[in-house]
Amino acid sequence: MTVQRKHEMGAGSRCVCPKCGVSIAHRDGVPCQEERCPACGAKLLREGSEHHRLFLEKQTRKRQQRPDTSEK
Ligand SMILES: [Zn+2]
Repeated sequence: MTVQRKHEMGAGSRCVCPKCGVSIAHRDGVPCQEERCPACGAKLLREGSEHHRLFLEKQTRKRQQRPDTSEK
């Protein structure tokens, strides 16, 4: 069971782009997943949500597996 703390879901939360990392303020009544990144048009994830957490975990794993992809 996921316990959602409603008072933290509204104002103050942000939606982040999984592709380019842009974050915008979450708009009340509009799910982040229905928002589009202003930069690349990807679906956004709500910051701190389960989806976002899993995404960050995946990114971390990728980086650990491929140390040669680091820039410079
Ligand atoms: Zn983007």
